[in-house]
Amino acid sequence: MPDPSPFANVLHTETIAKLARSSVLERGRSYVNRVSGLARTEARLSARVQGGGLYAVAIWVKGDRLGYVCTCPAGENGEFCKHCVAVALAWVDKAGAGG
Ligand SMILES: [Zn+2]
Repeated sequence: MPDPSPFANVLHTETIAKLARSSVLERGRSYVNRVSGLARTEARLSARVQGGGLYAVAIWVKGDRLGYVCTCPAGENGEFCKHCVAVALAWVDKAGAGG
């Protein structure tokens, strides 16, 4: 049996689409190939995204919701920013591919 990821029940394309505004969602999609160092530790994902700078993103499961943080200005305002979208989508892609 594969490791039952705590993200499997929570982190889906629909969840991401609900958290992010549509313009952010679209930009985040184009950032997926800028994600590096994607790793999961228990219920927490972390990665870096190369944008205007190199930003650190973390996404975790909080009950049936997602918590998230990004070091970019939008992320510091509590937004589910394009970097968060990119990391979340990168994870969904990876998980969908059986990783
Ligand atoms: Zn960000």
